[in-house]
Amino acid sequence: MEVSERYVRLCGEVSNFTKEKTGTSFVDAYFGPEHLNPERQSKEKDPDELVHEIGELVDSVKQDIDSPIRAKHLIGDCLSMKLVVEWLDGKQISYEDLVQGLFHIPVKRFSESVIDEKILSLDEALGDYSGDTLRDRVEQFTKEGEITGNELKKLVDTELQRKAINVGQLFHDRIYSLIGTSVTDNGVEYQTVTGAPWSGYNWYQKGFRSLNQFNLDVTFNKNSLQGVIYHEYEHHVSNLWREKYYLENGDLELSVVPLHTGRCVISEGTADTAKEFLGVQEEDPHIEIEQALYNLRRMTSINAAIMLNEERKSVNDAVEYIYDRGYRTRKSAESSISFIAPKMSDGRPNFWAPYVFTYFFGRIDFVLPTFKMAAETNQLAEFYRTLYLNPYSGSSVTWKEAFNWLS
Ligand SMILES: [Zn+2]
Repeated sequence: MEVSERYVRLCGEVSNFTKEKTGTSFVDAYFGPEHLNPERQSKEKDPDELVHEIGELVDSVKQDIDSPIRAKHLIGDCLSMKLVVEWLDGKQISYEDLVQGLFHIPVKRFSESVIDEKILSLDEALGDYSGDTLRDRVEQFTKEGEITGNELKKLVDTELQRKAINVGQLFHDRIYSLIGTSVTDNGVEYQTVTGAPWSGYNWYQKGFRSLNQFNLDVTFNKNSLQGVIYHEYEHHVSNLWREKYYLENGDLELSVVPLHTGRCVISEGTADTAKEFLGVQEEDPHIEIEQALYNLRRMTSINAAIMLNEERKSVNDAVEYIYDRGYRTRKSAESSISFIAPKMSDGRPNFWAPYVFTYFFGRIDFVLPTFKMAAETNQLAEFYRTLYLNPYSGSSVTWKEAFNWLS
């Protein structure tokens, strides 16, 4: 069996294992042949067998795959997958090693003085709001745009669904036209759910379409929700190109989109930079406030994740920290915990616990500096070609190499 086929089968087997242990599949999307569908793979293998087979696969990749970037991409994914199995099998792994091993990025926490600076920016951005304290002003701002439950459902079904169509058109007009080639896009369907650990999720479906789900349990802000559309649509776009590449070139490993690998760092980084890609400057008087809140939100979540997973502080301590330093409401601080806590409420390990690092560092350490350099040197067309036409660029292990033409 060819290495890429063995990889796809193993992804399925590992996915069955992670589903059993955590309820969440290691495979985020699949658009390959039906006999390799993750759901049809063995559920019988024990963790030791899986780890052993992944190790053997890494050796075969080194021997059989000629393209260096393809080999590096595959090996990076295999090593992450191996660690997923070991982690969920109960092996003692520090949080730092887990994040580093899965995503191939170091764990960084933000010093309180850096958080203080961000709070200062927020204070400045909220200059026009009245209130005795900064918290009063933040609350006034967030209350203005608060939306949840039925009202949120209505917004998702109407306005956001419409907005997504516009964003799809923007990708076409501003990026595909620059690349000089296009990709089929059968669109994104918007839905609402309850009881999920995330606030929004893009489920890519075979055949160039996606389902975007929003969690009605979460209280969103109307303004920042507009930003979520760009984020989720970019996930859709990056998978469109991946599916196209797979269909044209047949590289089987691309037909499976795994979670918890170096891919996620780039994928969340590009999604969080989609607005810059599209050059959208919305007529939004609140943009600075939202940017300041975005930074605080991402940074304090990262620090809280370290508190919970590394320092083993209590959920109450983490909620208090996010509330106090992230200027969130208590309710919103509480709802963010289910994404970063080491365990789920039923006591099983939380599959998402290491994931929070991908967004901020994917954007700040990988995507944004490369994008800015390409923009400054007038090479954006080549930037998008590398990003979307070469799916092997999309991992923290291959990114620098894929873009080395830029330096
Ligand atoms: Zn995302």
